[in-house]
Amino acid sequence: MELEARGLDPAEIHVFESGVRVGGRAHSGSVNYNNKTYHFEQGASMFIGKNRHLLDLAIKFELSLCSHPCTFAHTNDVDMEANQASSLGSYGVWEPRENKWLVRMGSGPLIDSVRMLWRYRGSGDLSYVRRRTQVAVDEFMQSYDDFNNHTTGIFSTWDEYLEDKPLLRTSLYYRAAEFYQSPSEHIRRRFLDEVVSLATRVNYMQDVDRISALGAHISMAAESDTAYSVAGGNWQIFANMISSAPAHLHLNTTVREIQRSPAGSDRPYALTVMSSEGVEITEYFDLVIIAAPLPLAKIRVLDEQHTKLVAADYVHMHVTFAIGILRDDLFPAGRDIPRLIVTPYRTTEPFNCLSILACLTQHSMQRCRDGPVLVKIFSHAPLDLQRVFSSVDWHHEQQWHSYPRLEPRNAGYVKEDGNESAAFRLDRKPPPPIILDQAGPATGVFYVNGMETLLSTMESQTVAARHVVRLALFGKGE
Ligand SMILES: Cc1cc2nc3c(=O)[nH]c(=O)nc-3n(C[C@H](O)[C@H](O)[C@H](O)COP(=O)(O)OP(=O)(O)OC[C@H]3O[C@@H](n4cnc5c(N)ncnc54)[C@H](O)[C@@H]3O)c2cc1C
Repeated sequence: MELEARGLDPAEIHVFESGVRVGGRAHSGSVNYNNKTYHFEQGASMFIGKNRHLLDLAIKFELSLCSHPCTFAHTNDVDMEANQASSLGSYGVWEPRENKWLVRMGSGPLIDSVRMLWRYRGSGDLSYVRRRTQVAVDEFMQSYDDFNNHTTGIFSTWDEYLEDKPLLRTSLYYRAAEFYQSPSEHIRRRFLDEVVSLATRVNYMQDVDRISALGAHISMAAESDTAYSVAGGNWQIFANMISSAPAHLHLNTTVREIQRSPAGSDRPYALTVMSSEGVEITEYFDLVIIAAPLPLAKIRVLDEQHTKLVAADYVHMHVTFAIGILRDDLFPAGRDIPRLIVTPYRTTEPFNCLSILACLTQHSMQRCRDGPVLVKIFSHAPLDLQRVFSSVDWHHEQQWHSYPRLEPRNAGYVKEDGNESAAFRLDRKPPPPIILDQAGPATGVFYVNGMETLLSTMESQTVAARHVVRLALFGKGE
């Protein structure tokens, strides 16, 4: 569209994907149990109502949306009643060593507010953190404004992107706990450990004293907005984007190397791929956009002069899906259990979080205690199924390098020089570069996934990609 608006010809686009499917970390699965099919997201599971790109694209491609986790729905056949029964309505923070609930919410608005008043001395902390989250979301939503005018708002670094977003920028420098406990914020530690940490553990497998305040705002955004999934799998949005674009998709084709072309070549970049037939092929392009995490993609880019700048540590995690009966001594005795169970701050055993996707005998929560359940469990180490289930009918494990450790940019305090008495300075590591190389107008090597070191979501990656394409094609000059 932008090319047409500028009176330019459409580009010839080739997409190289090492896997056999499109979607990357948006990947879904299903299981048949008692003649019924249950769907689940193995990676990116939900997006919020304010995620404009994903929502608009789902509508454009006529995909059905349902309340997360969407276990009962598949394409164009959303069993809304069952789906609503499965949406996450209650949660608990469970202390495994003493086997007790630190927090139980979802018993109804009245009981929840009484619990809130008693445990956190009122709902002030929650309202304050929600207001902060709202400001952060509003600043993120400014990202869309630039797309309305095809000549403005082009930036070439992620620092520039943050320039007009003061809360997002500041939040990147501090750990969530540091930020929220500062004199200007004054949030109680208990609230941070039990409520904000719950959100950061579920969304990023990271605790409030490690993750940046920005990571915490993004995690809390899911708490205060409607969470959607696409029936049949979120990956369909991305598959439709490619199939509806004038692009040639090469599946099962791994990019190995991107180099400047030899002198005399028509196009400045040589891209070497391993084709699906196992043959190494080099093709030539004007413009290369890398839309995968470079620390994981094993692509040799321009003699690897950017390796250090793009470095990021991705969280390695296990996502286990299982159908079985939960051990009756796993959680404190009682009639029902919450849909989402998170272990406390800094606890990784037996898991970080467990969500009940479906109670398989009937949709009533009480039956989850003694009937078979379909669960999804996040853990840092392989799950010990016997610690969680008394019997297991089926299970499936998926491992991911899921998202970067969202360390704040002040995280490294380094000495100015080797002198012991020298002053320390803050090591404010810049985000990875967007432009890795440029050989002239509308040519170069560009990198999208540096954005993930600020925040990592499906929507922010679509926003990042759209901005990077604008920069790559039109430069900053206009
Ligand atoms: C368990 C989990 C839960 C998550 N939950 C959510 C959530 O609820 N909501 C949300 O919005 N986000 C969530 N995320 C984060 C979200 O998945 C990512 O931010 C987003 O999907 C990243 O998209 P991407 O296209 O930039 O990268 P990817 O999805 O990683 O896509 C990169 C693609 O590049 C391909 N590739 C890699 N190397 C090469 C190569 N050398 N040659 C060719 N192809 C290559 C890969 O196969 C992959 O398909 C979650 C992630 C995980 C793992």
